[in-house]
Amino acid sequence: MKDLKSSILKGKKGLVIGIANERSLAWGIAKSAFQHGGELALTYQNEALKKRLIPLADKINSDHIYEFDIQNYEKIPVFLKKLSQEFGKLDFIVHAVAFSDKEELKGDYVDTSKSNFLNTMEISCYSFTALIKEALPFMNDKANFLTLSYYGAEKVIPHYNVMGIAKSALETSVKYLAADLGKKGFRVNAISAGPVRTLAASGISDFRYILKWNEYNSPLERNITLDDVGGASVYLLSELSSGTTGEILHVDAGYNVIGMKNVNAPDISKV
Ligand code: NAD
Repeated sequence: MKDLKSSILKGKKGLVIGIANERSLAWGIAKSAFQHGGELALTYQNEALKKRLIPLADKINSDHIYEFDIQNYEKIPVFLKKLSQEFGKLDFIVHAVAFSDKEELKGDYVDTSKSNFLNTMEISCYSFTALIKEALPFMNDKANFLTLSYYGAEKVIPHYNVMGIAKSALETSVKYLAADLGKKGFRVNAISAGPVRTLAASGISDFRYILKWNEYNSPLERNITLDDVGGASVYLLSELSSGTTGEILHVDAGYNVIGMKNVNAPDISKV
């Protein structure tokens, strides 16, 4: 854990959805938010993930952990009401949730099934909008919402397939939501993170190749860390970014600005 600390989020309460284990991007965000003074409530998707979350919650002094499946739409308002009663109103919500059938994160996009297309869009895109709609009554003034995207929303990445379509829709949702909620003083942003080896990422075929390609070809000549994502999230979750909404902030070691392979990059097929 990087030893950067501040009190920029002191007095701020946040809900972080999407910690599966210590490699989750949501964990990077939660620990950075905690280091900068934030108080956090956390969720786990199911019982199997609960035992991984408990020791992590301990590390950031969170005694508010809840089972929450974002696809149970009728339960979202019930959960948020309970959370508000037990934890208080929220200053931010982090949505770090995505899913697609890994059988379709290989091969060609054209072979996507209707059922997986719809399910991927629902969990990885629609859920952010559904959650925000229900959360509005439980937010403090000047609250903000953050979600996670990937460069596969903008350009074709091997095997990212239907998830790229869902991330494009998610990024556009961020912009429409920002416009809707700006009049209430709420902000909505996304971090477009570079590739990180997580549970979700392990479902993408040839992910090791993607990691190496990014490492060799991004301006910083490395892959990003959970601390990189955490640091950027503290900016977006705090009032440091009070004038920023509808933004897709790249935290990708600069990869998105590159147009061609680095001439000095090793031959990736031999890696
Ligand atoms: P992860 O596997 O650690 O996290 C994914 C989370 O989504 C898990 O905690 C899982 O429980 C949760 N989830 C899935 N379906 C859910 C449901 N129905 N209800 C509640 N929770 C549900 O993987 P991650 O890579 O940290 O993913 C977090 C976010 O970051 C995702 O949106 C992902 O697309 C995005 N992202 C990841 C990368 C990467 O390379 N790992 C890069 C850019 C963006």
